[in-house]
Amino acid sequence: MERVQAVRGMNDILPDAVHWWQKVETTAREVLELYGYREIRTPLVEKLELFARSIGESTDIVEKEMYAFPDRKGQWLALRPEATASVVRAFIEHNLHADPLARKFYTIGPMFRHERPQKGRYRQFHQIDAEVFGIDDPLMDAEVMIMLCDFLQRLGLKDIGLHVNSLGCPECRPRFREKLKAFLQNRSPQLCPDCDRRRHVNPLRVFDCKVDRCREALTDAPELAQYLCEACRRHFDKVLEYLSDLHVAYAVDSRMVRGLDYYMRTTFEVITDRLGAQNAVGGGGRYDGLMRDLGGPDLPGIGFAIGMERLILLLQQKEAWVSKKPQVFIAVLGDEAVRQAFRLAQDLRAHGVAAELAHGGGSLKSQMRRADKLGVAHVVIVGEEELARGVVVVRHMVSKEQDQVPLENTVQFLMTVSTVGSL
Ligand code: AMP
Repeated sequence: MERVQAVRGMNDILPDAVHWWQKVETTAREVLELYGYREIRTPLVEKLELFARSIGESTDIVEKEMYAFPDRKGQWLALRPEATASVVRAFIEHNLHADPLARKFYTIGPMFRHERPQKGRYRQFHQIDAEVFGIDDPLMDAEVMIMLCDFLQRLGLKDIGLHVNSLGCPECRPRFREKLKAFLQNRSPQLCPDCDRRRHVNPLRVFDCKVDRCREALTDAPELAQYLCEACRRHFDKVLEYLSDLHVAYAVDSRMVRGLDYYMRTTFEVITDRLGAQNAVGGGGRYDGLMRDLGGPDLPGIGFAIGMERLILLLQQKEAWVSKKPQVFIAVLGDEAVRQAFRLAQDLRAHGVAAELAHGGGSLKSQMRRADKLGVAHVVIVGEEELARGVVVVRHMVSKEQDQVPLENTVQFLMTVSTVGSL
């Protein structure tokens, strides 16, 4: 029979890997809550229009990568390619601006983009996403980046660089756009077909192109930094000052434009050189006009998203994970013993001892082999003969010594000796 396989680029997370995910999620929640963020969960499916209007019609995500489909009534929907638009939509829809506690949000979950799968790039991937609404103080830009670095440090990840840029605002960016357009017109023959088209509709996107000849064509391109208006310049200088005050290392990267159109002023990325081509672990920025453009109050916003798969690839390079093992294996000999063993297993679990019960009988030898494979420290052998005398046998797997223990004392006995096996 032919097997059904998972969809390309969409991965199972198997039990052996799931610890990494739990560790990353737990650390993320701890850090985010320390900085005052509260969790929000939005649907994986939204109206297509939400993403087209926020991320931008001429971005790669909307043009090429979105999973978009009509539902049975012909309404166009999309699997979310990122979380910001959904969080902003939910904020507007539920009038959360009326709640003084509702300023900082986070959400963790899968996103979907139809990209070419490779290491660190998948079609279903997971992000940890943080958003702040209503604060345009440059201090918040710095705090958001500092929190991101704090989180990475707590995970023990060190060699990660923070790259920062300012994309200007609707006041100053158009001037730069025109300058860049004129520059790109001269470089037109060198550009890839995508960029040659984009230079008309969305010239800044050209900086995002990975094609070598486009990169070469841009070596002497005009720099955004030189076109910032006074207010954007001041904002950016303040952000950098706050970062320096707290001794956060950063590099200003004037070519970093990010792949989404809603960003303005501060943008940032955390970059590693340990993941080959997929070098961005996370990124974000300020998006002050977005909430207004989506029909909500005119509140500024800033946020970031971290890719969990890339984070976990980095963690796995750094340390091996020791899987949790059951502490006690219960071997059973005889039908009557099964009932006692079942009760004992439950009793052990109720006392916090991870117990694995032998199923399906088999010889003592085969049960011991299974216990060995599981790597438990102790095996309790529940046999009918011993039960008749009110005892069980506890075998210490390292020393191979055995004790006879009264049935009613077994839990107590194992609780004292089994701590060795719980590592
Ligand atoms: P973005 O939403 O494009 O700013 O991406 C934020 C982060 O999400 C990136 O830095 C990556 O770590 C991660 N990411 C984005 N796209 C993918 C993908 N296709 N597969 C895995 N991770 C991704």
